[in-house]
Amino acid sequence: MKYVIIGASAAGVNGAENLRRLDKTAEIIMISEDSHIYSRCILHHYIGEIRNIKQLNFVSEDFFEKNNINWIKNKKVIMLDENNKILTLNDNSKITFDKLLISSGSSPFIPPIENLRGAENVVGLKTLEDCSAIIELGKKAKNIVVIGAGLIGMDAISGLLHNKEINANLSLIEMSNRLLPLQLDKISSKIYEEKLIENKVNLYLSSKVLKANLNNENLIESLTLEGDLTIPCDLIVVATGIKSNTDFLQNTKVEFDRKGLIFNEKGETNIKDIYGAGDVSGRGPIWSVAVKEGIIATSNMVGIERVMDDFFVCKSTMNFFGIPTLSLGDQSLYENTEGIIIEISENENSYKKIAHKDGYIYGAIIQGDLEYTGVLTQLIRLDVDISKVKKSIFNIDYSDFFHLDANCEFQY
Ligand SMILES: Cc1cc2nc3c(=O)[nH]c(=O)nc-3n(C[C@H](O)[C@H](O)[C@H](O)COP(=O)(O)OP(=O)(O)OC[C@H]3O[C@@H](n4cnc5c(N)ncnc54)[C@H](O)[C@@H]3O)c2cc1C
Repeated sequence: MKYVIIGASAAGVNGAENLRRLDKTAEIIMISEDSHIYSRCILHHYIGEIRNIKQLNFVSEDFFEKNNINWIKNKKVIMLDENNKILTLNDNSKITFDKLLISSGSSPFIPPIENLRGAENVVGLKTLEDCSAIIELGKKAKNIVVIGAGLIGMDAISGLLHNKEINANLSLIEMSNRLLPLQLDKISSKIYEEKLIENKVNLYLSSKVLKANLNNENLIESLTLEGDLTIPCDLIVVATGIKSNTDFLQNTKVEFDRKGLIFNEKGETNIKDIYGAGDVSGRGPIWSVAVKEGIIATSNMVGIERVMDDFFVCKSTMNFFGIPTLSLGDQSLYENTEGIIIEISENENSYKKIAHKDGYIYGAIIQGDLEYTGVLTQLIRLDVDISKVKKSIFNIDYSDFFHLDANCEFQY
């Protein structure tokens, strides 16, 4: 059997390792544009020059040798012939396969703002090469602007703040009225807003970039925001979203939509022997989901039936400025859901919020003291009907989980 995997990141690498575990003799080929294995979740440490490339690696040095995996790096898949099971790479070489895993992930989406696309001082944040460009341009810059205060934009700011050789004025522009709008509400955003201001970052919330203004060298020298505000910039880091890497599927019958590749809970696409995993779906772009999907898809590829059963696809933990936060669910969605009950517990050291409806937890934010997240996870995992909890939900502790009724129902 010949397995080919497109992508060498969370889904691809974990998928390849699982394949080898389950099939000791198969031929396994992994193809990637990346020429290093690294975790994108800690790229800000690379920008901050706290970690080098080696320290971003999440596999052992002998990973490929040990697992007998042939890694074709620094090559791009440009075409798929699904009928004859052949991939074409950008050097025109052809690779055949019996079964294929598409885990080609995503790339930064640069919004269609006048003059923004194509300017040389505009960089996304997804790869090591992006980080190198940010460091190189950042060291020369007087003014750096990050557009988008989601997880990637916040990582960009953290990295820039940590790099001692980058002394530019930093600005962060966000359309929403708060930082990390998918993960945080206004209260939990506030603590990070204060930290940014303390660190002299110019914060523009509820602000929209209307236009980028070019100088005669075709570089962007300023951005015009709504409200006729113009801010200077020598480097712009765009963190406004991602788009799935599905270009090579354009002329195939493999199904994908506006978000990305379509595959079921087993990782199967609409074409036999072609599977998908990770960010390429454009749904729930987080590391742990990509890892799990890579393992599940490759298990099904070798004939071991497994399905994806994660309890929350929108799940983020962050630790900006040493303040940890766990966010479950898409905060911007559930706030407007009719009938939602919000429970809040707040003190000096922590902020806890749970949103539920009909006993089902739609989302939660735990900030500061994360001890409660263990209990919360149990409530979700054990499918506890929140509306039946007889004490304050925030006072539940592990001992409550031993209170079983004769019929095995939990009692509080
Ligand atoms: C800056 C940053 C910070 C993040 N922080 C967090 C975090 O704190 N927590 C969290 O859960 N998630 C975080 N994420 C998201 C997380 O990194 C992704 O969910 C995860 O990397 C997805 O893995 P993947 O394998 O699906 O795809 P990707 O990581 O996108 O990798 C895609 C792979 O496919 C290759 N590829 C793409 N197209 C082709 C092609 N045509 N031919 C050959 N190879 C190709 C690429 O070279 C790459 O190896 C962060 C992402 C970024 C960018």
